[in-house]
Amino acid sequence: MRDLKSMDLNEMTAFMREVGEPAFRGKQVYQWLHRGAASFEEMSNLSKSLREKLSESCFITVPQVERKLVSQQDGTIKYLWRLRDGNCVETVLMRYHHGNTVCISSQVGCRMGCAFCASTIGGKVRDLTPSEMLDQVLFTQLDSGEEISNIVLMGIGEPLDNFDTVLRFLKLVNSSDGMNIGMRHISLSTCGLTEKIDKLAQYQLQLTLSVSLHAPDDETRSKIMPVNKSVGVDRLFESCKRYFETTGRRISYEYAMIDGVNDSDWQADLLVERLKGTPGHVNLIPLNEVAESPFKPSKRVRQFQTRLERQGVTATVRRKLGGDIDASCGQLRRKQMEDEKL
Ligand code: SAH
Repeated sequence: MRDLKSMDLNEMTAFMREVGEPAFRGKQVYQWLHRGAASFEEMSNLSKSLREKLSESCFITVPQVERKLVSQQDGTIKYLWRLRDGNCVETVLMRYHHGNTVCISSQVGCRMGCAFCASTIGGKVRDLTPSEMLDQVLFTQLDSGEEISNIVLMGIGEPLDNFDTVLRFLKLVNSSDGMNIGMRHISLSTCGLTEKIDKLAQYQLQLTLSVSLHAPDDETRSKIMPVNKSVGVDRLFESCKRYFETTGRRISYEYAMIDGVNDSDWQADLLVERLKGTPGHVNLIPLNEVAESPFKPSKRVRQFQTRLERQGVTATVRRKLGGDIDASCGQLRRKQMEDEKL
């Protein structure tokens, strides 16, 4: 059985020809799928025989809402979707002044092992498919009735560890016969897989690359992010520099503030040093407490921010949304897994 929604328009058109249909059918089916059609029966402009032919050889992914939490504070909605094979992933819808932003997952679980992160606790189960990534945007829009204008790939998983799928997803969600979301409205966050950052640069996409830095020195970064042991901060910044030079896009550095770990003045100063020559913006994230982890939120976020800004580095503090619904990623999926064990 083929996963029809993971095909791009060219492939869909070629596929229609293969099954003896005129090419324009490809676009019709593509548009149905990208509007969220859940079955072939709905595709009323296709012949009955084509609909039958498709249902014999293809499937349509339709995630089910397993849990849905709505924040009373700010209207943030958190979805836990049940996928075709029974696995679950999370998506968060956030309302900002500049439009509705959806935060989507790229893998079921994660194998990067960051010490402060809930998504990686059970390891990686599998990669998501392009259709499953697209569905998170599509069905969040359909279920909430809210138009989505921005996407951040900051949910469960490491997007660059599922590289080909993520590229295909970007092509699908960006296509004018689909959701038509502009690349400049998309951010991709990575823990810093340097070879993949180099590879991504070659595509010259207009998206925003966010690098989860969290520490400017190897000793601290390797303690909290195992990925740093094989790469190191020097090489990471070399890749970031090349990325900026190739694409002309400024990188955003994420920095989760952890009490007594990465919030000292000397670390702010070292961060300033590191950023020289690679224009970038620092996004300070108040740490979300994860039950399984010993780390506590830093009380020095403002001081750290001021210290950066005084030295000419632009730094913002991320506003916390959905505090009452545990909106930080990975936590709802973990709860569900615990419940299913009982
Ligand atoms: N794997 C990708 C994207 C997913 S995580 C990456 O590492 O960038 C999205 C962001 O949330 C990352 O910057 C991640 O380090 C951060 N994060 C994870 N757990 C967190 C926590 N408990 N508190 C604050 N930020 C966290």
